[in-house]
Amino acid sequence: MGTPSELFKDGDALLVIDVQNDFCPGGKLPVEGGDAVVAVLNRYIDAAVKKNIPVFFSRDFHPNGHISFQKAGGDWPPHCVQDTKGAQFHPELKIAESSILVTKGVRFDKDQNSAFDQTGLAYKFRSDGVKRVITGGLAQDVCVRASVLDGLREGFEMVLLLSATRPVSPEEGRRAFEEMKEAGAKIV
Ligand SMILES: [Zn+2]
Repeated sequence: MGTPSELFKDGDALLVIDVQNDFCPGGKLPVEGGDAVVAVLNRYIDAAVKKNIPVFFSRDFHPNGHISFQKAGGDWPPHCVQDTKGAQFHPELKIAESSILVTKGVRFDKDQNSAFDQTGLAYKFRSDGVKRVITGGLAQDVCVRASVLDGLREGFEMVLLLSATRPVSPEEGRRAFEEMKEAGAKIV
C-alpha cells in the first residue's frame, strides 16, 4: 500500500496501542522486540498528523494490586502501574500535541485488554466520523488482538500494521494474526 502517507484518507484514525515502557525490553512485562515498533509507528504518526488524521494512543494504566496481576489471581506480573515509569509511553514515541489518550485497565473488577472495552472509544470514533482505524502496537496476541476484534464488532474497518506490532509469544501471535484476518481485519 506504499508509504504511510499514501495509506491515510479522510475518515481514518490511527490507533497506537500500549507502546509503554513495561511492554518494551527492560520493562516489567517485556515483549521481545517491543521497542522495534516505535520507529515504524513514528512514521505513521508523522504522516497522520500531516494529513490531519486523528491519532489516538491507548495505555494500560493499572491501580496497585490490580486484578490482572498474578498475586490477585490474574495472568500477569505487575505492570503499567499508574504513574510509574513503566506506565509511561516509550520515550521515543512521538506523541503529538493533538493526540488523544485512551486509558484502560483502571477498573478494579476486571481487566480491559481492548482499547474499546468500556472506554467510549467507539462512540468517539463514530462522533468524529471515523470509519477506518489503522492500528499497531503491543502486544499482537493480547491488547492489539482484542482491540482489532472489538473494532470490527463495532463496525469499523480495521487495518493492522504488521511491522508495527510484536506478540508476547510467537505461536499466540500467529494464532491472533489468523483470527484477526478471518474476522475481517486488513493486514498491511
Ligand atoms: Zn495490563
